[in-house]
Amino acid sequence: MGKRSGGCQAAGMSTAQSTTVVARLREALPAEAVLTDPDVTASYAHDMASFCSAGSPAAVVLPRTVEDVQRVLRLATELRVPVVPQGARTGLSGAANAIDGCVVLSLLRMDRVLEIDPVNRIAVVEPGVVNADLSKAVAEHGLSYPPDPSSWEQCTIGGNIGTGSGGLCCVKYGVTAEYVLGLDVVLADGRLLSTGRRTAKGVAGYDLTRLFVGAEGTLGVVVRAVLALRPAPPRQLVLAAEFGSARAAGEAVARIMAAGHTPSLLELMDGTSVRAVNRLTRMGLPESTQALLLAAFDTPQASEELAAVGELCRESGATEVVPADDQAESELLLAARRATLPALEAVTGTTMIDDVCVPRDRLAELIDGVALIAERQALTIGVVAHAGDGNAHPTVCFDASDPDEAARARVSFDEIMALGLELGGTITGEHGVGVLKKDWLARELGPVGLELQRSVRRVFDPLGILNPGKVL
Ligand SMILES: Cc1cc2nc3c(=O)[nH]c(=O)nc-3n(C[C@H](O)[C@H](O)[C@H](O)COP(=O)(O)OP(=O)(O)OC[C@H]3O[C@@H](n4cnc5c(N)ncnc54)[C@H](O)[C@@H]3O)c2cc1C
Repeated sequence: MGKRSGGCQAAGMSTAQSTTVVARLREALPAEAVLTDPDVTASYAHDMASFCSAGSPAAVVLPRTVEDVQRVLRLATELRVPVVPQGARTGLSGAANAIDGCVVLSLLRMDRVLEIDPVNRIAVVEPGVVNADLSKAVAEHGLSYPPDPSSWEQCTIGGNIGTGSGGLCCVKYGVTAEYVLGLDVVLADGRLLSTGRRTAKGVAGYDLTRLFVGAEGTLGVVVRAVLALRPAPPRQLVLAAEFGSARAAGEAVARIMAAGHTPSLLELMDGTSVRAVNRLTRMGLPESTQALLLAAFDTPQASEELAAVGELCRESGATEVVPADDQAESELLLAARRATLPALEAVTGTTMIDDVCVPRDRLAELIDGVALIAERQALTIGVVAHAGDGNAHPTVCFDASDPDEAARARVSFDEIMALGLELGGTITGEHGVGVLKKDWLARELGPVGLELQRSVRRVFDPLGILNPGKVL
């Protein structure tokens, strides 16, 4: 990802306090688990979001066991030190950014798949397991773990739970929250909480498991997860449809969903994104298109379903409909979609990736509105969207070394969120709030919702040591 530019910052600690924290961590944990070299700790300071500066951690701790995590939290409670849980730092909201003097608790070394149970269709994993590694492991049992963020080859299950992440196939299979059955969580004071179940059903008490999904490390540290699996579907077949306008592509999305189809993927790239991907990858996507819709089906009847969807695209004004001939062509189209964010980043060096979700029948209005914002602010903004979910990622490209351009990028980012709310949407479909969208969260929740959420947080973390300054 590209460079990041400044904005939000949290309070720090004195050098003497930091020295005490490091000494106590060294006493409590194996030597190789505690990193303090400033060059090394600096590399753990921030995630991949722009506009969020980060503090300098007192130490980075890489535990291998639940007990180590408990030791860190007990110590943090005793010394009143902030703790920032981290996965792979692919987050896009600054949620994993360090705070001055904090302990960064990186779960990357807790990366074991503990159990795969084909009868009960569950996997039990540690939080540092990389999403794609879990997918590969369960595939050997004829199973799949559906949530598939585009960053799946780097991001961790702990981070996916922390952000409640989505992905490309969520239009059919749903998001992370729907797959987390049970959790082991180390609380702020070091106690170990087990929530949820391994059973197919279970409604005992309040659903604390769900509360931790999307909590961005503010309520506890996930150290083990029981995840639901599905039988592996057949490989999907993809169709690409070109449109002369976002409106026509939006119309096609509406028709496809209204007709009762359940695509395994329904993604949209606007013309700016298509051209950026061509420049980066030389894939030869259609340069003149204003919107490229990718639809896929993973059923045995995929070819017939694609033909029906192709017809709906034509009725909505598609200028070209190209079903992939085979798996290889399908993979190529998906690779183009996955290359969009790096491609947009290559435009000017820095990007600001937004994440607005609107009712899917209003997606075209969002895309048209973003085009107007881009024009007004004289910036390139590419839009890529999980169209079937109404979840768009308008990506603002700007030169961070130009203060005026950076300021216009920030304004456009805010205007996009305002537009999303105006269209009946939410400020974040899957990337979370972090530090980036804190002010906007207050607008979306309203005063009653905000106060209740703050109260919940206080119950879990009365001293405010877990990822302070994030979310609320
Ligand atoms: C190129 C690219 C494409 C992306 N595509 C998508 C996409 O399609 N869909 C999507 O949803 N996101 C996407 N993202 C965003 C990001 O990858 C996800 O938010 C991902 O879930 C973050 O995982 P991570 O391991 O990197 O977590 P981090 O960024 O390290 O952390 C994310 C949050 O989770 C918390 N956390 C991490 N581990 C734990 C734990 N064990 N216990 C408690 N809290 C924890 C952190 O404190 C932080 O608040 C993309 C990012 C990039 C760079």
